[in-house]
Amino acid sequence: MKEIYLDHNATTPLRKEVLEAMMPYFSDEYGNASSVHSKGQAARKAVESSREIIGKAIGTEAVDIIFTSGGTESDNFAIKGIALANLNKGRHVITSAIEHMAVLESCRFLEQELGFEVTYLPVDRYGVVDLNRLKESIRKDTVLISIMFANNEIGTIQPIREISRIAKKNGIYFHTDAVQGLGKKPIDVEELGVDLCSFSAHKLNGPKGIGALYMRKGIEITPYQNGGHHERKKRGGTLNVPGIVGFAKAVEIATRDIYRTDEHLSRLTKRFLNGLQKELKEIYLNGHPKDRLSNTLNISFRYIEGESLLLNFDLKGILASTGSACTSGSLEPSHVLIAMGVPPDISQGSIRFSFGYENRDEDVDYCLREIPPIVRKLREMSPLC
Ligand SMILES: *Cc1c(COP(=O)(O)O)cnc(C)c1O
Repeated sequence: MKEIYLDHNATTPLRKEVLEAMMPYFSDEYGNASSVHSKGQAARKAVESSREIIGKAIGTEAVDIIFTSGGTESDNFAIKGIALANLNKGRHVITSAIEHMAVLESCRFLEQELGFEVTYLPVDRYGVVDLNRLKESIRKDTVLISIMFANNEIGTIQPIREISRIAKKNGIYFHTDAVQGLGKKPIDVEELGVDLCSFSAHKLNGPKGIGALYMRKGIEITPYQNGGHHERKKRGGTLNVPGIVGFAKAVEIATRDIYRTDEHLSRLTKRFLNGLQKELKEIYLNGHPKDRLSNTLNISFRYIEGESLLLNFDLKGILASTGSACTSGSLEPSHVLIAMGVPPDISQGSIRFSFGYENRDEDVDYCLREIPPIVRKLREMSPLC
């Protein structure tokens, strides 16, 4: 059967070139990057040139990159690490209501374990944070603002430059979760003006279990994972050399192809959405009409349950998601759509289609043939209709 993967915001297939680059570090080049001997130094060299590639891709220097186990760890590290390092300055953090669970749960941890107060900024109907509310929320004891670059469920891109200006003016650290941005939109940490930035390799056709935290020079952070003297004593643990090499290769290719891929994806998703809108009534696009990732379409099919849509799509080999992979499986409505004020009778039938560079026009044609009959059939059976 055909298999059309449209869940790239959950994870992406590993590129062949990435696997090839990683292979030697699983076998002959097995050295520990901390070892002094030549085997260790070969691994160290691979790590450091990877760090340089990634640093260059995001407009900074290698020394500002700390390798982690992925986006979740980078978010935890940034939020808890900055909070712990600044306890004497204050215990207030500002974030948004639509962040990834890794950010929201790290903030909850600060509230529950360290007595922090956290402001969860509301968003408008397109999922954009309200900058006036942000300014009003700033207090003398605010130590950190954490607002994501692009949302994983709806693809809306936040006004990061404006937020960093506000943060800087008030002397507050600014962290952004750019896991969904890297490889999709140009990310230049200098130009964006962020202090800390989270990345993950497996969202851009790299391996799972490896990511990075960018940290501006001079920032004091409390290590989150204690251990040896790895990563300038900021993050203990033997380095995942094959993962790091694969991460850099994935970043290198994605950055090289970024405009071509963006154009390709925006053409595919436009065709997909227009095609569905021509065939079906009462379907709605969630997220910002323009400030969005080109690969992500979150669409509400009114009168249907998202879960039954997913199962029926899966039977035809169309693999999508009801929202974030972490919360799907629960029948709870998405916290992102709730924050945007999407009414429950519309949000319950929401599907996230997230495309990748390897998707083709034929995939869109196939979906446009298969999806409308499924939707019509389910609507006929629906008691909500
Ligand atoms: C996937 C994702 C994460 C988590 O990254 P992992 O490497 O899977 O831990 C964090 N933030 C966003 C926005 C994501 O999409």
